[in-house]
Amino acid sequence: MDGQPSNGNGKRAEMPTCVVCGGFAPFLCDYEVAPGKTCDRPVCGRCRYNAGLKDYCPQHAGKPALITR
Ligand SMILES: [Zn+2]
Ligand SMILES: [Zn+2]
Repeated sequence: MDGQPSNGNGKRAEMPTCVVCGGFAPFLCDYEVAPGKTCDRPVCGRCRYNAGLKDYCPQHAGKPALITR
């Protein structure tokens, strides 16, 4: 693994981090979890699942989680 984030040490709330790999996440999951509300989990360009004009996090894309342990 590359880039080990140190918890509680200079963490910036402004920068969204990917829920999968912890990298920079410019995308948000567009999966609708409730009427008028989307998942909004931040995902990076690699971990997002692109479906047309929407982006989904791996969980809502129906894909198996990368963490298989
Ligand atoms: Zn990622
Ligand atoms: Zn999602």
